Amino acid sequence: MSDSYELLVAKLKRVHVLGTVAGLLGWDEQVNLPPDSADQRGEQMALLAELNHDAASDAGIGKLLGELENAPASLTVEQQVVVRETRRDYDRMTKLPAEFVAEKARLSSAAYHAWAEAKATSDFAAYAPFLCKHLALAKREATYLGWADRPYDYAIDKHDPGMTAARLTALFTELKAGLVPLVRAIAASPIKARTDIFRGFPVEAQRDFLREVTERLGFNYRRGRIDVSLHPFCEGSGADIRMTTRFDADNPLDSLFSSIHETGHGLYEQGLPLALQGTPLGQNAGMGIHESQSRLWENQVSRSREFWAFFEPRFREKFPAQLAAVSPEELYLAVNEVAPTLIRVDSDEVHYNLHILLRFELEQRLFADDLAVADLPVAWNALSQELLGLTPTSDRQGVLQDVHWSGGAFGYFPSYCLGNMIAAQLWFTVLKTLPGLEDDFAKGDFSRLLGWLRTNIHEQGRRYDTLALVLNVTGEELTPKYLLRYLQERYAPLYLK
Ligand code: ZN
Repeated sequence: MSDSYELLVAKLKRVHVLGTVAGLLGWDEQVNLPPDSADQRGEQMALLAELNHDAASDAGIGKLLGELENAPASLTVEQQVVVRETRRDYDRMTKLPAEFVAEKARLSSAAYHAWAEAKATSDFAAYAPFLCKHLALAKREATYLGWADRPYDYAIDKHDPGMTAARLTALFTELKAGLVPLVRAIAASPIKARTDIFRGFPVEAQRDFLREVTERLGFNYRRGRIDVSLHPFCEGSGADIRMTTRFDADNPLDSLFSSIHETGHGLYEQGLPLALQGTPLGQNAGMGIHESQSRLWENQVSRSREFWAFFEPRFREKFPAQLAAVSPEELYLAVNEVAPTLIRVDSDEVHYNLHILLRFELEQRLFADDLAVADLPVAWNALSQELLGLTPTSDRQGVLQDVHWSGGAFGYFPSYCLGNMIAAQLWFTVLKTLPGLEDDFAKGDFSRLLGWLRTNIHEQGRRYDTLALVLNVTGEELTPKYLLRYLQERYAPLYLK
């Protein structure tokens, strides 16, 4: 039986290596590719996608899985996890007819271009037919996988294993009840952060500073790097993590915090067990958990007083003239700016969750046939007013702002908010477990936090689903109360004094 297991692992590693090559080409496309080389890259990527699909849906994997599932007693607990999770991946890979996969790929490509054009001209009607088709395909996909009666749950489970719309509704309802009063109170506060105080920060010095910060947080630059791209991202796994950032001389905090965010993703990937790469035990536990890692470093850690106690003198050393007229309190308030915006990606961490609640509500209604695609802009604007207190003046600032739906990625947005809730729950757990942790930060030492995350989250791979992992690590079911407590403790002293 161990022969079957070894054979299975060998096949999985092959799929994994092909995936890493495709990932590297994708990274290169966004970081280095000359403008007229896109067609050639497209061919390379298409061939790799085909090879990857063939390797991942290899009938030999199905046969080995069948054998191993019939003899669970011969497997260790870890091996059982690998078989269970591989089955999940394999079914998703093989239960979709080839013509369906091709149809979805064609639609996604066409819908992306239609979305980009519709966004540029703020013309939702031109994009709506593509969205209708994507919605129909999403329901068909759920049917192929055996979720015909719960297509939206299927979409959510794809990103966060085990999560359901009903569970999210309960979590988000409680979150909203606590969040809206806090947001309204901060909006009414006369205290406002000033971000126009940051002007003329040379890119080279910004690059040096963020390198120092991310290295201190624990990112291993011998197994990864950071480059520049239009939109920051983190790609790769195990021994080769590629992060990107972007620079704006008049907005150094954007570059710094997006780099810290990607570093959180990168630390997670670097902490997955290298020896188990290719198997589910060497892979991340889902989108919500991944996002909890980026948010924890970006928000709980790097917006703290202790973090800035250590890094502010270094920041000033790099930019003495630019910061000469900025007081420590002005700097700290700018780091923790709260101001409503229509655009999700520009949002501060207090408002951010409301942007997600809006999208979750609309996705639910779309899947329940409770809302027609044509009526989406009106519904979006009404919810935007209700939650954010702002109504978009064009669809570009509203329903057309995100790329996700053009790729058929429904059920993806909730992961961001889940990530915020999980990050806060982990945060209060680690503060209790490791006394004096924040004092470490003031000394520039983040190693105890990273070590705790390594043991409790990173090294677990895909052993547990989202909710079970949170329960195991924190001793409590996932709840929004820690996110609410964190936001209250961070922002009330700044804005509501
Ligand atoms: Zn992220």
